[in-house]
Amino acid sequence: MPDKQFDYDVLYIGSGHGTFDGAIPLAAKGYKVAVVEADLIGGTCPNRGCNAKIILDMPVALRRQFEDLNGVVTGGVAIDWSQNVAHKDEVIGVLPGFIGGLLDSVHIDVIHGKGVLEDPHTVSIDGTLKTAGKIVIATGLRPNRLDIPGIDLAHDSSDFMNLTKMPKKITIIGAGYIAMEFATIASATGADVTVLLRGDKALRAFHQEFVETIISDLEKHGVAFKRETSVTELKAAGDQIEVLTSDGQSSTTDWVLDATGRIPNVENIGLEKVGVHYTAKGVTVNDHLQTSVPSIYASGDVIDKTQPKLTPTAIFESKYLSAQFAGESSDPIKYPVIPSVVFTTPRLAKAGVSPETAAAAPSDYTVSANHIPDDWYRQASKETLGDNLLVFDKAHHLVGATEVSNQAENVINSLLPAIEFKFGPAELNRLVYLFPSITSAAYGQL
Ligand code: NDP
Repeated sequence: MPDKQFDYDVLYIGSGHGTFDGAIPLAAKGYKVAVVEADLIGGTCPNRGCNAKIILDMPVALRRQFEDLNGVVTGGVAIDWSQNVAHKDEVIGVLPGFIGGLLDSVHIDVIHGKGVLEDPHTVSIDGTLKTAGKIVIATGLRPNRLDIPGIDLAHDSSDFMNLTKMPKKITIIGAGYIAMEFATIASATGADVTVLLRGDKALRAFHQEFVETIISDLEKHGVAFKRETSVTELKAAGDQIEVLTSDGQSSTTDWVLDATGRIPNVENIGLEKVGVHYTAKGVTVNDHLQTSVPSIYASGDVIDKTQPKLTPTAIFESKYLSAQFAGESSDPIKYPVIPSVVFTTPRLAKAGVSPETAAAAPSDYTVSANHIPDDWYRQASKETLGDNLLVFDKAHHLVGATEVSNQAENVINSLLPAIEFKFGPAELNRLVYLFPSITSAAYGQL
């Protein structure tokens, strides 16, 4: 029940998905809730991440479809970058107001400013003190900055999505989600792109054979990949930037994207002062998302966790906390299968048990391989490359899937219920899907 001893029942620091998906239903139940935000309402995903990126990617995916259907359709797709960015701004520009309106509709107090913990129940917002029975740290991540001379000449993913003109030559440091997605977008928009990998692998968490499919496809589209190449220094060279690398080489480029990961926002928010433990990977929590201080919780990407630091994970945590705070459950958090996708063209998506885990335990799993262009439905759109691997347990329940293809995110989404709820033949026989569709194609493989 709401606690009259404090200004609020729950105060969230940060207003992203780790907060609002749970804070809104909590406040709707009558709890007194505040959200402290120093920047745009909604946090990274709506304003500087997922939503913004997928809009910029739309014409890129369309271009891919045109390319595949070349001959059936004629003419090409040229991407007007400034129009693409303007369209993105138009769609996402309203999101802070929209999310703010949702918070307002259930009487959540939005307090603009930087929240700093003062004690286990008090947060200072630019000098004003507010108390709460429970406090949730949901401060998210920010881009890592390489510690090399001249790094100020480099940019981050937000800068990329706000470029008014696509640079002629772009150098990308790193080969994770952001590097691979933005290399795809920049290259399709006409930039000459070079990706520098410090090691020999891109997208380490994904099936490497499928990652190589994407790399060779990007190479065919003109993207250069340089492996075992660390950047040692950036230097201004007139209008350009000189990139010095560990192999003793130097090259010039117009624009550098530092895409070397994201780090948790744990500094200068009073964690040490109140005794909240954290590591370089984020805030330490127990199986109830509670920190080392019992009245303080954490939600979203700022948590040090093994689950992928993605929006769906943050939404699940936010809703979990909401149910806990409303007294509807006291169970430890039990994460569902969390899928992930890299929005390159083709996409790379996965969920559940990986092919690597299956290969390491052949007595527990079987793996079936499907070559996407063999499927008539994919032939309809002339998909020329793509594969998937489906992992089954001994009872032939689907427990994992990974796919590289133009429609991989939809295939993995379609298969998620079967993976999460371990559908067997009885359940699968009850599922009747619209035909033809990507879901009927995906289930046809089981
Ligand atoms: P990632 O963790 O995906 O990748 C980081 C890349 O930078 C890796 O290739 C890594 O190499 C490399 N790297 C790290 N440190 C250095 C260094 N010192 N020098 C050179 N290279 C280095 O991070 P991103 O920045 O791409 O993305 C951040 C996060 O944002 C993702 O983890 C994900 O949570 C989220 N995101 C999700 C998306 C999605 O769901 N589609 C899209 C974009 C972002 P190595 O492998 O050798 O360590």
